[in-house]
Amino acid sequence: MGCKVLNGKDLAIRIKSELKSEVGVLKEKGIFPGLAVIIVGNDPASRVYVNSKKKACEEIGIQSFEYALDEDTNEKELIELIHKLNDDDKVNGILVQLPLPEQIDEDKVINSIDPKKDVDAFHPVNVGKLMTGNPVFLPCTPAGVMELIKESGIDITGKECVVIGRSNIVGKPMAILLLSQNGTVTICHSKTVNIEEKIKNADIIVAAVGIPEFVKGSSIKPGAIVIDVGINRLEDRKLVGDVEFETASKVASAITPVPGGVGPMTIAMLMENTVKAAKFQKEGN
Ligand code: NAD
Repeated sequence: MGCKVLNGKDLAIRIKSELKSEVGVLKEKGIFPGLAVIIVGNDPASRVYVNSKKKACEEIGIQSFEYALDEDTNEKELIELIHKLNDDDKVNGILVQLPLPEQIDEDKVINSIDPKKDVDAFHPVNVGKLMTGNPVFLPCTPAGVMELIKESGIDITGKECVVIGRSNIVGKPMAILLLSQNGTVTICHSKTVNIEEKIKNADIIVAAVGIPEFVKGSSIKPGAIVIDVGINRLEDRKLVGDVEFETASKVASAITPVPGGVGPMTIAMLMENTVKAAKFQKEGN
């Protein structure tokens, strides 16, 4: 049995090209989608992510507005900027690149974004809508994972799904999305006992742990679908996921690579949310 490598890079290119056509049609109707991207400080990884997001906007025809703020920016200044962007008709989506410097409370910042412009879907209103089954925006990384699972051709209904990690941005919303597609979901985390047993039982594994190569081939059930959300930079600068690709790809029926798996899909989903936001705001939803 061969293992299918789920190519997130190609899928993201396809989705972005569809969005580009859609944006072309919107522009004829006088709708010009715009995304504001705020970065605070000089974290090199954050800079890379922000640049990729700006590049994707360019490719699709979304206008991007970058706000690069100093490392010592205070919470009040940042929130004032967000309020200004909430009121700016040219801006349909607002993205604050996380993590923020420690003097700034992330929750307060997220709460200050107009939920209609919250294209990351981190605001409690959007989290609540997701939880109750009426989402407007899907959180980008978990939404990208769902698209990749769809690519594998597997129907999630009734499958044993194990999500490793319980963060607000990946693990928790991931579990809710799998549940919404009728998966039987187990969330594992740093305090989970007998984690090996749970992983071994899974038909679908989503690893979002932040530990290089945490899941090995020997830990997974033959034929499982393995989605690797992790992005870990090793000391030798090599980029690896939370799954040991080499061994896992010998056992899984489908697997995402790192890089080129979930990462590009996250950005494609952000673009999708921005286009959606522009349409909804024009229609007055
Ligand atoms: P996080 O640090 O907020 O959460 C990690 C989670 O892993 C925690 O909930 C913790 O309970 C769990 N965990 C830690 N040690 C564990 C252990 N020994 N056993 C089981 N669970 C354990 O991280 P995050 O923001 O959710 O990100 C997870 C990974 O995904 C990181 O590598 C991050 O870089 C990556 N990431 C990738 C994308 C993307 O677009 N591909 C987006 C966001 C995050």
